[in-house]
Amino acid sequence: MIDRGYYNGFGGAYLPEILVATFDELVEVYQQAKNDPNFWKEYTDLMSTYSCRPTPLTFAGNLTDHFKGARIYIKREDLNHTGAHKANNVMGQGLLVKRMKKTRVIAETGAGQHGVATATMAAKFGFECTIYMGEVDVERQRPNVFWMERLGAKVVPVTEGSRILKDAINEAFRDWVSNMDTTHYVLGTACGPHPFPEMVSWFQSIIGKEARKQILEREGKLPSRVYACVGGGSNAMGIFSGFLDDPVELVGVEAGGKGLASGQHASRLCSSDGSIGVAQGYKTYFLQNDDGQMKETHSIAAGLDYVGVSPILSNFKETGKARFEAATDKEVVEAMSLTMHKEGVIPALESAHGFVTAFKEAPEMKKDEIIIINQSGRGDKDIFTIADAFNDPEWRDFIIKKAEEYNA
Ligand SMILES: *Cc1c(COP(=O)(O)O)cnc(C)c1O
Repeated sequence: MIDRGYYNGFGGAYLPEILVATFDELVEVYQQAKNDPNFWKEYTDLMSTYSCRPTPLTFAGNLTDHFKGARIYIKREDLNHTGAHKANNVMGQGLLVKRMKKTRVIAETGAGQHGVATATMAAKFGFECTIYMGEVDVERQRPNVFWMERLGAKVVPVTEGSRILKDAINEAFRDWVSNMDTTHYVLGTACGPHPFPEMVSWFQSIIGKEARKQILEREGKLPSRVYACVGGGSNAMGIFSGFLDDPVELVGVEAGGKGLASGQHASRLCSSDGSIGVAQGYKTYFLQNDDGQMKETHSIAAGLDYVGVSPILSNFKETGKARFEAATDKEVVEAMSLTMHKEGVIPALESAHGFVTAFKEAPEMKKDEIIIINQSGRGDKDIFTIADAFNDPEWRDFIIKKAEEYNA
């Protein structure tokens, strides 16, 4: 009997018959890799020569002085190649694609970060690459589309449904059904049918393994709490994985958007708007209406704007293994601003959600306590959104001038 990846009833693999054999093959190659000590070595060698692993654990001394509470550390996933933790997952899956002797990869992308990471991996390994992206997102995220295409990927705008991330996922599954023999679907987060939640979390566990070792070397003790933002849940699972057997409180922070009461957010676990359902091949908390239709979500951070969430985190919510909070768009911009001024690091808008909750709680903690915040990615990618959020008039003039130059 093949394990279908249930976490207290969450997860599973609700698949059309035609994909069952492909998933069985993936489960097998993943299990083999997991049981092969050479695989993890190959993976960490690759990540230390092609990306910036181990990523540093930065002591945020100025923020610590500012809040006068717990000692604040930042795990620097922003220093990965392509600017976020996404590299950990795509490079790992790339190694599995080689083992399966497949020649083509496909992926879904919303904000475009996972698309850029996958296109990068495909270029490095010599795979053909197609990225599915909702038409609305193609228009919103032109810089990332530009890079995917320069890296040699084909970007297909999806015109079905509401033309966003969930529609891109459906289209990628459709492609996979027709091209299973040659093609692997590089799912971008710890969601979807088994083995993706477990497998993506396993690749991302490199974050937590490093962080645990680094904090013990530096401080000689464990942190009291670890904070991470939660979109699909992969960076959170990554850092949490290092501390699952420790007396460490795990805190996941979702997109509170314009406030939980506004309905305009993407909080599946900590708002009362999420409910359990089955969609896109797995069972988890979704933002859906009573008929199971997916709701519109909102976040200032495009990477957190998703209707589902990792089934492993849904289970953590039920069992109390992790605590979930939300941060609003406004709080996120403030936390980001403070972090830039005090430490000279630029967290992504996604990552800044974790900072918001950490900053609320650090002052109430003892001075000898430690917290770690996972900085999942770098914020300079967000210049268009951030410049708008900061209402920067000179940036606006610059964009208008550029447009005029094109029109001239
Ligand atoms: C994609 C992304 C996220 C959200 O994805 P998770 O799977 O929840 O980690 C968070 N931060 C950054 C920088 C991202 O690019």
